[in-house]
Amino acid sequence: MADENKADKLSTLGEFAFIDTISARLDGSADVLLGIGDDCAATTIPAGEVLLTSKDLLIEDVHFKRQWCSMSELGHKSAAVNLSDIAAMGGKPRHCFLGLGLPPQCRVDEVDAFIAAFIATMSAAGCQLAGGDTCASRAGLLISVTVHGSGVASRLCRRDGAAVGDDIYVSGTIGDSAVALYLLQHEQAVPPHLLRRHHRPEARLALGAQLAGVASAMIDVSDGLCADLGHILRRSRLGAEIDSSLVPLSQPLRAWLEQHPEQRQLALNGGEDYELLFTAAPAARAAVQQAAATAHTPISRIGTTTATPGLTILTAAGVSRRDNPTGFNHFAR
Ligand code: ADP
Ligand code: MG
Repeated sequence: MADENKADKLSTLGEFAFIDTISARLDGSADVLLGIGDDCAATTIPAGEVLLTSKDLLIEDVHFKRQWCSMSELGHKSAAVNLSDIAAMGGKPRHCFLGLGLPPQCRVDEVDAFIAAFIATMSAAGCQLAGGDTCASRAGLLISVTVHGSGVASRLCRRDGAAVGDDIYVSGTIGDSAVALYLLQHEQAVPPHLLRRHHRPEARLALGAQLAGVASAMIDVSDGLCADLGHILRRSRLGAEIDSSLVPLSQPLRAWLEQHPEQRQLALNGGEDYELLFTAAPAARAAVQQAAATAHTPISRIGTTTATPGLTILTAAGVSRRDNPTGFNHFAR
């Protein structure tokens, strides 16, 4: 985009010139027969695989605040949270579609930074932007992403596949993002690692793909560890016991929690980690470790599924039980 246009508003550039700036950024991909510019996109997935589709909405002042993140971070995160859903099925991302509701007074260079980061994150995951829709919004920025992936039907990691006595694992570390959000909301300084985890989540695609056919059930941690485990348990009709001392925490988070021990529950209950939470039969332990090693992704075994419903959490203070673990609920008052 020419430098003299940097401070232009979208209202000056117009919808069609804006869409042209998006297609100019794309390289093309063998599975996108028709991308931006026709009435529909025409895309393919490999023969013998099923189409996976996931959609996420990001709404200004509901999911993000403009003053807390850059447009580039927002573009990255809009891509990463959708890719994470494909990872959680053990699938491979293929194509995506981007719906944008943009306030007309938005600056072209800001939207351009969003698009550049969105496309860069999707492209790095092998996911081609194949279309979308753009309109003016009178109520803040609205981002709607649809991502298509593919996988072999019999190897998909569904939420309802866990069996009694399965091991429960989680990748990476938990809680950084939730503590960052808590500190932003309380207008306090945020340690850099925690802020990065909140604004720049990474979809665990390599691990997810390696766990296809190995994990008995899987979900990505978006609502919070306990809530998302609750989703697997409900769909698999099981209970679970987890040991909170085995839940992996980053060094910066441990340091912060030492100063704020009363906030420990944020790690278990806060969301937006985008780590993979999965179950696997004890007989699959070697295969699980191999999957993690091949994907160069750390994993921790944190508990076991049980026939008795509900979630039992072992803590230093004793045992706590939750009959119906829940996380963030958009319609709760
Ligand atoms: P239609 O009127 O048929 O909906 P549009 O004029 O809305 O077509 O869009 C023209 C083309 O631009 C379509 O191929 C559409 O997929 C693409 N497009 C529109 N907005 C976006 C966007 N935000 N990101 C990617 N592609 C887009
Ligand atoms: Mg349209």
